[in-house]
Amino acid sequence: MDWGNHKDILVFVEQAEGKPVNVGLEALAPARTLAGLTGGSVLTLVVGTDNAAAAEKAAVLCDGVLSVEGAAFGDGCTDAFACALEAVVSKYAPAAVLAGNTPLGRELTARLGARMGLGSAQDATALKVEDGTPVWTVPVYGGTVLNDVAVDTVPVLATVRSGAFSRPEAAAAAAVTAEAVDVPDEAVRSRVLETVQEISEAVNLEEAKVIVTGGRGMGSKENFALVEELAQLLGGVVGATRPAIEDGWVSRAHQVGQSGKIVAPALYIACGVSGATQHVSGMSGSGYVVAINKDEEAPIFDVADVGIVGDAVQVLPLMMEEIRRRRAE
Ligand SMILES: Cc1cc2nc3c(=O)[nH]c(=O)nc-3n(C[C@H](O)[C@H](O)[C@H](O)COP(=O)(O)OP(=O)(O)OC[C@H]3O[C@@H](n4cnc5c(N)ncnc54)[C@H](O)[C@@H]3O)c2cc1C
Repeated sequence: MDWGNHKDILVFVEQAEGKPVNVGLEALAPARTLAGLTGGSVLTLVVGTDNAAAAEKAAVLCDGVLSVEGAAFGDGCTDAFACALEAVVSKYAPAAVLAGNTPLGRELTARLGARMGLGSAQDATALKVEDGTPVWTVPVYGGTVLNDVAVDTVPVLATVRSGAFSRPEAAAAAAVTAEAVDVPDEAVRSRVLETVQEISEAVNLEEAKVIVTGGRGMGSKENFALVEELAQLLGGVVGATRPAIEDGWVSRAHQVGQSGKIVAPALYIACGVSGATQHVSGMSGSGYVVAINKDEEAPIFDVADVGIVGDAVQVLPLMMEEIRRRRAE
């Protein structure tokens, strides 16, 4: 791949409530791989009204932070963010621009691609290098097909899936450079007039280290309480399949899968879950998977490190008893 004079890798790190969004920091890992190819540096771009906290977090994970601050970025209007990204890309001429696969990350990379005539890999879950060319893994059709995507325009654009990459190890803090970007009035064609926050249960599945998920095989809301009890015992978070939610055993905020959350805990325990592709596509990035299912042919066993063939309603109390006994020792 001919990178021309483009060397540095620019990562847009989004902020929420003054903090950097995790997937943005995770995108710094593939950025480091790309920087190894181009011989450039990894630069983080933060854009907002007060970037101090996000810049500080990012500075220890990359080679330099570019901070664009201004009132124009206060209402979440993406026109202003697109302006900032384009200005920084024009100035620094990076070899690649990465972002988390959030609505904002997708929109900004798509806009940049349209404005500059660039190709883009969206929602990538892995990166490999073949003959000097970066090749992204992009799941499609709910994760049943994994496409290899090579982008042959420079800068390469890509968004990465939450949990697919581990954020790099922290090192000495890099410098934070303020970049002034003027957002002309005519560039802002839409404004966010009001933001309404949904009142929903706070379920942080994306950042959980342990998730205990219950499926239709739990049989009832009363039995589903065993899943909740194990999650609590392990200091984890409760996950659920779509049928368990549709049956009213737990709220939609707990759904894992294609139309729910994409998760990557260190430990995932699936109880009474068949392992449909729409579910597995949301948890296949888990570190260690334990599955309990009474059907030994259940597809969940194909992605499990440990499979227990049995009735989850009987296995879960035994499991919890054993955990408590060992802890008491
Ligand atoms: C567009 C689309 C999007 C979707 N998005 C999602 C999504 O985001 N997340 C999601 O989860 N699903 C999603 N689905 C639904 C998905 O296709 C499956 O229907 C669903 O994941 C199955 O859930 P389940 O494993 O709980 O139920 P089932 O498939 O009914 O499986 C229940 C399992 O429990 C086992 N079992 C029964 N009793 C016991 C017992 N006592 N002990 C142990 N095991 C037992 C059975 O052997 C079986 O394997 C989506 C579907 C579509 C079409």
